[in-house]
Amino acid sequence: QGKKDGRGTYRVFKSTMDLELRARAQLETELRDAIQRGEIEPFYQPVVALPEKTLIGVEVLARWRHPIRGLLTPNHFIGIAEETGMIGDLSYRLLRQACLDARDWPAHLLLAVNISPQQFQDRWLCERVLSILTETGFPPSRLEVEITESALVQDLEAARTTLTSLQNLGVRIALDDFGTGYSSLYHLRELKFDKLKIDRSYVDTITMSDERAKLVDAIIKLSASLGLVTTAEGIETDASVDWLSGQGCDFGQGYLFGAPMPKTELTALLAAPDAHGMSAALKQVA
Ligand code: C2E
Ligand code: MG
Ligand code: MG
Ligand code: MG
Repeated sequence: QGKKDGRGTYRVFKSTMDLELRARAQLETELRDAIQRGEIEPFYQPVVALPEKTLIGVEVLARWRHPIRGLLTPNHFIGIAEETGMIGDLSYRLLRQACLDARDWPAHLLLAVNISPQQFQDRWLCERVLSILTETGFPPSRLEVEITESALVQDLEAARTTLTSLQNLGVRIALDDFGTGYSSLYHLRELKFDKLKIDRSYVDTITMSDERAKLVDAIIKLSASLGLVTTAEGIETDASVDWLSGQGCDFGQGYLFGAPMPKTELTALLAAPDAHGMSAALKQVA
């Protein structure tokens, strides 16, 4: 009995797998073309200074305008781009586009870009970033590079060298998704960052229990005592803003202030920030 069923099951499984492999191969091809055609678009999410809610910068977040599947978020394609070695091409094009877009915005606005673990291993990372900044005329002091701990696990010495070379250009480094990695304290001890971004999963919970709030408070204090500035990610309520500002959190980001948006929308927001619940004066934090 088992044999017959087993074979049937196997066949079904195999054809499902074939389909998945084919779909994946097709997505890979489409992604390659989309990158070449510049169809991976930078979206921008506001970053505000607390407690005034002055807009001080934006985080660049990749979006793929897929002709059939619509607007795709990074979880649909960043992994594939990493595995196939397309991530560098994707990210450098995105950075270049963001630097060009930023020409139309106030000169104080900071840009934060995400660098994936695989891209972080690119030995020419620093040179490529510099050449994009030079070509577009975007000042290094307005750029922030966000990395997660998974970029740091391979080779600490190499990571230190890369971080230092970027910082020597004047680019700032943020440790992203803080609290989700395996050895956050170790990395804070061994490497020099400029900013710490508290992961959304912590910010979510501060109003849920005292213990959780205490943990976030401790992270803010730790960050400040190491001389870093702190951003809270994923702020969705006014209650969170009040509490985080009260604990000394410097910056905030989240749907409360604005979801990631295309260039045109950000340009409109910049023209009338108060209409979006933000303070009108742009504040220079560089
Ligand atoms: P991240 O760098 O931690 O970016 C923050 C993510 O949280 C974004 O998701 C953003 O849309 C989402 N978010 C922001 N505020 C809120 C909120 O209030 N509530 C909720 N529920 N979510 C919020 P997104 O755009 O889907 O990006 C996911 C991740 O993909 C990013 O996490 C980043 O690690 C990666 N990513 C995005 N763009 C790029 C890129 O150009 N290159 C690389 N290497 N990675 C990227
Ligand atoms: Mg980020
Ligand atoms: Mg994050
Ligand atoms: Mg995240």
